Formats: sequence, C-alpha cells, structure tokens
Amino acid sequence: MVVNSVLYYLWRNAKECPEKTALSDEQTSITYAEYRKAAVKIASGVIEKFSSGQIKRPVAVLIDRNVLSVLAFMGIACSGNFYVPLDPSMPEERRNTILKELSPLGVLDARDEGKELQTAGYPCIPVKELLQEEILPEKETQVETICSQIIDTDPLYSIFTSGSTGVPKGVLICHRSVVDLVRAFEDAFGFDETSVFGNQAPFDFDVSVKDLYNALYCRGRVEIIPKKKFVMPKLLVEYLAEKEINTIIWAVSAVRIVSDFRTLDEVQTEKPLSLRYVMFSGEVMPVKALNYWMEHYPEVTYVNLYGPTEITCNCTYYVIDRKYEPGDMLPVGKAFKNTRVFLLDGQGNPILEKDKVGEICVEGTGLAAGYWNNPQKTAECFVSCPGSTEYENKIYRTGDMGYYDEEGKLYFAARADSQIKHMGHRIELGEIEAALGGIGFMRAAICFYDQQDEKIICYYQAEGAEDGEELKDLRKQITLELQKKLPKYMWPNRYIRLAELPMSSHGKIDRVKLREWYRNGATGPGSK
Ligand code: AMP
Repeated sequence: MVVNSVLYYLWRNAKECPEKTALSDEQTSITYAEYRKAAVKIASGVIEKFSSGQIKRPVAVLIDRNVLSVLAFMGIACSGNFYVPLDPSMPEERRNTILKELSPLGVLDARDEGKELQTAGYPCIPVKELLQEEILPEKETQVETICSQIIDTDPLYSIFTSGSTGVPKGVLICHRSVVDLVRAFEDAFGFDETSVFGNQAPFDFDVSVKDLYNALYCRGRVEIIPKKKFVMPKLLVEYLAEKEINTIIWAVSAVRIVSDFRTLDEVQTEKPLSLRYVMFSGEVMPVKALNYWMEHYPEVTYVNLYGPTEITCNCTYYVIDRKYEPGDMLPVGKAFKNTRVFLLDGQGNPILEKDKVGEICVEGTGLAAGYWNNPQKTAECFVSCPGSTEYENKIYRTGDMGYYDEEGKLYFAARADSQIKHMGHRIELGEIEAALGGIGFMRAAICFYDQQDEKIICYYQAEGAEDGEELKDLRKQITLELQKKLPKYMWPNRYIRLAELPMSSHGKIDRVKLREWYRNGATGPGSK
C-alpha cells in the first residue's frame, strides 16, 4: 500500500469508521466523517481565498486548545500546503518576525474568541467562517485531486522554535516523517482503535503531533484537555477518568504537575482511571516524580521518549522496566524502528564503548527537510555523515551529548550549546541575549540557566543609574522592552548588574567566570 500522505488515514477512517469520535474538546466532539468533511471545506476555502492552486506553501494558524485548530491543520494539508501553528499570545513583534520569515499565503484564525490580531499584513480568515460555507461537488473533487497528488516528501507542517541568533527558526516536517513516526509507535506500543489520547501539549509543540497522528493512524480518539485543568491537578485527574483517557504523551513538566502536588494521594474519581500508557519527553524526568506515579499506578506502562523537533518528535524510547532510585539517570533507550541513532566524538568518529560521551546523531526518514528559508542553519545541523563521501548520507546533529551503558542503552548527558529547557519550553539563551542587546541602554547581557533552581539568570552592563529607585526603574524598563519581544517564559528570572562584565583573554565576555561567581553565591564584584 503506497501511503502518499497522512491524509490517507483521514480518508480511510472516514470510510471505515465514519461514526467513530475522532476529536473532542470541552465544547465539541466530531466523528471521522465530520473530520474529513470539515477538512475538505477548509481546504476549499484556503484554495479559493489564499492559494489558487499553489501547493507546498505555508499557511499560518492562530491556534487555540480546540478541535477547530486541528481542522485548520488538516484543511491546509488537504489544500496541498503546510500549516504553521502560532501561539496568539506571543508578543506581536515576535509574531511579525515569524510571519515575515515565513511569508505565508495567509493566516487562519482558529481561536474560539479573542480580539483581532495584527498578522504583518497577511490576510487572516476565521476558520469558523470557512466552515459555514457550503461546498459544491466540483470543489470537493478539486480537493480530492490535490490530495491524491501529494507525495510524501511534501511538507506537512512547520514548527517554530527559539533561534540562537534572535530569530526563531521553522523546522519543516514532511508527510513521510509523520507516517514513519506513527508506524514506529504502533510497532513499539501497539496502539489501537480503543486508544484515547489525552492531549496536553499546545499545538505549536511537536509533542502534540504524536496525539493527533497516532490517533488518526490507529483509528483512536483525541481528547483535547483544557489548559485550566493543568492549573488544578485534582481536576486534571478527574478529567482523565471522566473522558476515559488511557494514553498520555506529555511533556515532563506536565507529568510533574500531578506528582509535584501529590495529587494522586487525595483524589477520588467516580470512575477509575483507565491509564495504559504514561509517556514523557522534552527533558530529563526526575526519578522521584516517576516513582510517585509508579507507586500509585504500577500497572501502567511508563515510557521515556527522546528526540528533538528536527527528527519528528522522537527517535528513541525506553520502557521503564524496573524501579530507579532518586538520583539515577533514566535511559533514553534505543532507536525506534527504521531510525538510526548513534554517537560521534569531536572528530566525527563513532563511539561504541560504554560511558564515553559523544554527540547524539540521527539518521532516517524522520529527519526534517531543514529549517524554512534558512539554508545556512540547515547546512550547519543537517550534515553528511562523517566518512561517507560517495553519496549524500544525511544525518542530524542534535547538539545533545549522550553515552551508552554496558547493555548498550543510550543516556542523555547534557547539551553541547546554550539551548535550555525551562518550564517545558525549548529556549536558545542567545535569543534572550539578542532581545536584551536590542534595548537602547543595554551595553551587554549574558544569560545562563540555574538548573537547580530552574531560573534564567541574566548578568548585564547598562548605561544609567546604578542604585536605588533609578535601578528599579531600569529593571522595569527592561521588562517592558522584553514584553514586546519575548514570551514571558523567556524573561530572565533574576538580573545581576555589574559595572563591567569580566573579559576572557580572547577579548570575549568571560561566561565561565560569571557562572563561577554565581555558583559560589558571590554574584561578582560590585554586583547590584
Ligand atoms: P524539542 O525540540 O522541544 O522537543 O526539544 C528537544 C530537546 O529536548 C532535545 O534535543 C533534548 O535536549 C531535550 N530532550 C528531549 N527529550 C528528552 C529526554 N527524554 N531526556 C532528556 N532530554 C530530552
């Protein structure tokens, strides 16, 4: 069977299980037949209003935690184009930077409500409006023809992540990578039509891709969990029980919400929790948090998933098969089927021996097509495998360092650069530094991450007042400027002002010294 796109599964399900519920949010629920019909309607609208037959072009979506957003994604895919989810709450300046970088055919607004937003001059249409229009049979045929002509190397979506130069970068993923992902997941975990995925991750995070497409592939159901439930973990657990959610594929930070508040100690649900899988990814899962879940639900299968957005969600997995002690590292395990994951040393030689740290590299169908409109960054990260010169044997260098144990299980060790995970978000500290550097009175700003306290620390040197009220005003000014440029989770949690930042012998700001001062609790001479 040739599967040319993920849409194959939408058509198949609409035919084979039309009445089965496909997607639900707090207000709406739709079947597979309705899902297909809505996607075709939206596709027809996109063709008429934006693309007039162009394919493989971006269409941005202002997302919400709702069914409408997913319908917009599928509609755009059915028009032969690719979708780019955008968080409407990000600062306008950042949204405009992304839109200019993207140059989309247009923007679909999938929000349930909200004031009109600036979209850098690109046309913006509410998804609801497209759904209201009746679709003529010839238009439906046009969409079906476009869908049948998609090939699996056509792009399906692009997700923007933080960029070290100050401009976010769009990771471009093709249909075949997602088809490969869901087949590998099915092979490893055996999801089926009884699987109910409790979606936690916002749609501009690739964690959500696993919910949407695993469900589509296995004829399952996605329950989009309202954001507010994650503020009240007790309500969250009740919701899992009420909606009979049995599979959760969440960011580590979300899984921790339940354990950090010891929610499972007290909560009594009317229905029993029907969990089969608790899967987590995105950062190191603290063993204490995992043990808490395992003590309360020992029969659940727990899985550590690893991988960056650039290789389509995950490339390795580890099914937790024993109790780990606090302080132990959890393995990230082994590669999914049809993916090769290996370690290279600084000279590009493979590492096979245990405990030796090297860069985690990935090869396979999951690799992104690259970064949208950014050949330089693409060439830097998607490289030819060292030693293979006879043909283009592309690999992705993750920038993650890892090592093997004596059984050949892979472990994540650390990042090789200044990318961090903070409150579940992937952040390039360089992007924060670039935003700070753009503030008129700022002479220089250096950021690093205090892993223990989970805080972004900023050392800076600035013109103007150094003490008292005036210093407070300066800090306020910094926050006001950052509000325009960066989402809140990227704002430094602590500022330390120095009259002069220390310089290394190479004439660069001495980051090592700053970290050392900070670690020793001294923060630096004359710091404010
Ligand atoms: P993202 O592209 O947002 O999924 O972030 C990818 C990065 O998150 C990886 O390159 C790792 O640095 C980190 N990461 C993902 N999964 C894990 C995991 N299971 N354990 C440790 N770090 C992880």
